[in-house]
Amino acid sequence: MQREQIYLHEMVHALTKEGDPVSTRALRNRGPIVYLTDKILSEAGYDFPQQVMYSRPPTDASLPKTLPPHERPGYDWETVARAMEVENRYLDGIADAQAGAVRQTRILGEAVENRLTVKEVDAMHGELASSTQRPGEVPYFGDRFEAGFKSAVDTQGRSPRSKEVLGHIDFFYGELYRNSKLFRRLFDAFAGARAPGEGQAKWKFVLPPEGAAGDPVAARFAHGVDETARTVHLSGAPAYYLSNEGIAKIERCRELTEAMVQILTRRGGVAEDLAHRNRGAVVWLADRILQEAGYPYPKRIAYATAAQSDTVAQEQLALYETVARRAASAEDRHLDSLHPKRNRQVLACLGCRPRTHS
Ligand SMILES: [Zn+2]
Repeated sequence: MQREQIYLHEMVHALTKEGDPVSTRALRNRGPIVYLTDKILSEAGYDFPQQVMYSRPPTDASLPKTLPPHERPGYDWETVARAMEVENRYLDGIADAQAGAVRQTRILGEAVENRLTVKEVDAMHGELASSTQRPGEVPYFGDRFEAGFKSAVDTQGRSPRSKEVLGHIDFFYGELYRNSKLFRRLFDAFAGARAPGEGQAKWKFVLPPEGAAGDPVAARFAHGVDETARTVHLSGAPAYYLSNEGIAKIERCRELTEAMVQILTRRGGVAEDLAHRNRGAVVWLADRILQEAGYPYPKRIAYATAAQSDTVAQEQLALYETVARRAASAEDRHLDSLHPKRNRQVLACLGCRPRTHS
């Protein structure tokens, strides 16, 4: 336990006159002081692990052996930690609504400008602002899409059997282009989806073999954009991502949107060691595009995913919820504040020529 945590804990006691959980509840609960202490330190930009339960493992190593298992600190830790994530979702909502969300200068121990997502979105903003493409000069969307993309195929290169999924990909992007201003800007300004150059193939979408969901090897979560082969591999089995409402199944429309944003902007994913605590610009942009286009999806808050068959990875992902959710909303507040006069949200400004920000 860090000195800051101890000092603040006692200060919150003094200010609120609230107590800690009594010993019989202290293995299943944190109590208000621990929650508030963690929340405040998080807002202040520290990167301390959260305290899941009030009781801590005793320093005397022999002590736990004298207790029955269900009274030992750490018993059923994962269940209690999951409960804490759900509590935080609820309590943060109340705290932020009542006290007002803080404009942070540090997030998880890092200056806000150095956060991966903030840096990437900033860089993209600059690229868009310097784009010379003007609306009105661009030809019909369907023609441009056809010039850059082949119709979808299966892994053997045959035309799709599952027409209901693949036959509608061009229709999906057409609707997205119609309904999202941000998507239009990206598609018009970035060169990633233009017609292939000499000796280059068109982009193609590949679905895993039918029945892959029942085959543990083929169902491995291995989707993504292969820049060299100009191929988008769509996931066969459901996979999970971390949202501000807990873990959620990746929606096909989200997958398609993220793939296209990645193709357009030529930005890759997030390194594995950062993926639980960062989204990256592709995830961020796709979220905002889907929101603009009216999809009722939760906000994706981390780049990491977990396969349906991998319950350990799912469990691990779920335990980052509070950390990732708080970081994502602090990043969004920062990004939204960069263009307060033009619009409350930076997405409407992407590509504008702001004075405050180059
Ligand atoms: Zn206390």
